[in-house]
Amino acid sequence: MFGNIVYIGIGSNLGDAIENVTAAMDSLGRLPDTRLEKTSSLYRTTPIDADGDDYVNAVAMLSTGLSSGSLLDALLQIEQTFGRQRPYRNAPRTLDLDMLLYNADCISTERLTIPHPRMMERAFVLIPLAEIAPDIAIPGQKPLSILLERVRNQGIHRI
Ligand code: ADP
Ligand code: MG
Repeated sequence: MFGNIVYIGIGSNLGDAIENVTAAMDSLGRLPDTRLEKTSSLYRTTPIDADGDDYVNAVAMLSTGLSSGSLLDALLQIEQTFGRQRPYRNAPRTLDLDMLLYNADCISTERLTIPHPRMMERAFVLIPLAEIAPDIAIPGQKPLSILLERVRNQGIHRI
């Protein structure tokens, strides 16, 4: 167990999405000073504010000795190895890795906002997160059970 507990949201809707998400979990576990502690089930979800095929989503819990900045660099690098391109906002993607939580830190820099600002409205984040961390407190937010109530109408199915 390394010193910092981090939750990563994983998504793919281009290529073999199940394979991409599964392989991304392996890549997270191979990062330096990092251990893959828990992974959620995979979920199939309807795109929100986006086009393309349905997504496959999951959440991973890591323990890491990496700083939040170094971890973000590593996440962007993993996305690149999966051929991630950004032709336009919310375009279909082979792999998206979002840092949801870094300990109970609140971070607001040019390149990193933690907790991830859009996670609170997304069933595809909250449901897999609740699966592996049902009692987690999100800094500055209502309890997870209340956040979950608000996203009940979003289409998401465990694979
Ligand atoms: P999105 O995931 O919102 O569709 P991108 O994956 O293209 O968008 O992310 C674009 C940028 O978002 C990254 O280069 C990164 O600097 C920034 N960013 C800010 N906060 C976070 C976070 N918590 N996790 C991941 N990226 C973040
Ligand atoms: Mg992203």
